[in-house]
Amino acid sequence: MDIIYLDNNATTRVDQEVVQEMLPYFHELYGNPSSMHSFGGEVGNKIAEAREQTARLLGAEPEEIIFTSCGTESDSTAIWSALQSQPDKKHIVTSRVEHPAVKNLFEHLSQKGYRVTFVPVDAKGRLDRDYFFDSLTEDTALVSLMWANNETGVIFPIQELAEKVKEKGILFHSDAVQAAGKIPVDMNTVQADMLSVSGHKIHAPKGVAALYVRKGTKFSPFLIGGHQERGRRGGTENTAQIIGFGKACELALSRLKSGQQNIRKLRDHLEQSILSGISKVMVNGETGNRLPNTSSISFEFIEGESILLMLDKFGICASSGSACTSGSLEPSHVLRAMGVPYTAAHGSIRFSLSHYTTRKEIDYVLQKLPPIIERLRTMSPFWAEYQKACSVA
Ligand code: PLP
Repeated sequence: MDIIYLDNNATTRVDQEVVQEMLPYFHELYGNPSSMHSFGGEVGNKIAEAREQTARLLGAEPEEIIFTSCGTESDSTAIWSALQSQPDKKHIVTSRVEHPAVKNLFEHLSQKGYRVTFVPVDAKGRLDRDYFFDSLTEDTALVSLMWANNETGVIFPIQELAEKVKEKGILFHSDAVQAAGKIPVDMNTVQADMLSVSGHKIHAPKGVAALYVRKGTKFSPFLIGGHQERGRRGGTENTAQIIGFGKACELALSRLKSGQQNIRKLRDHLEQSILSGISKVMVNGETGNRLPNTSSISFEFIEGESILLMLDKFGICASSGSACTSGSLEPSHVLRAMGVPYTAAHGSIRFSLSHYTTRKEIDYVLQKLPPIIERLRTMSPFWAEYQKACSVA
């Protein structure tokens, strides 16, 4: 069975060109980039090139890039560094819709003596600006806000927010793991001090990522060890992965305009056809201000998990907006923060496309999905109740 992969916000296929770029660095060019001999030096030069490629995608200087193991490590490093470098400040600010990589660390810090503000969002997933700006005080050590949401794709106005936060002299970090490579992320125009990106969201392998740290930002390493990454992250470099990541950044930059436009067209075709062909569905989030590849859709009165299982039978991969924890299906914290009604939040599906997605695949999904929804609704007591209420009205 062919796989139709519409779960690219979870992870992406490694690009063939990326694989080719990496291969020599496993078996032939396996030297340690820190070694004095030229065999290692050659690898060091290639890592320098990957650093330049990564910097270019972000409008940064190569020295501002620290390679890490994952987006989660980049987020953690940025947050711990901000706290270490300002030990007297005890207040931190984030949003209610962050990825667990930030959300769970902030919750952990709230148990460790930090005052934490989780800024709410509205029904469209937009940050409550008044609440946000009112929360900032002289005691605020750090603001960490995601650039784009992994579930809904909604984009926060990072440029404007960072500017206002910097006016108050507060450190600003952005989790751009979903944004980088999909929309322009240019550190020349955004005043953030730190920024996280991750390889496996942009067709590089899992296990490699980067943290941007603006020149002059006080930085405290998370992994203390060797002198690698100019003493900012100890540990022998994950050479092949870093080289692959650099190549993926180069490819992402080259596809940023027309490639993302094509993806947007396919996403809109999928979404519009679902909205016009199936009743009681809604798109979650501010539709005009989203990542081009993401669509979070709620199918009312049924469970997202059941939809996923039935799609899976046809080889269609997507994800749901619920997390199955300890046997109870809870809608995601993102949809709950947006106040999406339970009947809709439970039935939410996230489709996320990539440049590998084809029109044929989308049409196949559009052929399989409506009967799945119809079948699940015939089995749903909530749907029956709704139909009854409609007929009485
Ligand atoms: N931040 C966001 C917005 C994400 O979507 C993810 C992964 O889904 C992460 C952070 C974590 O990245 P990684 O899987 O590389 O640790």
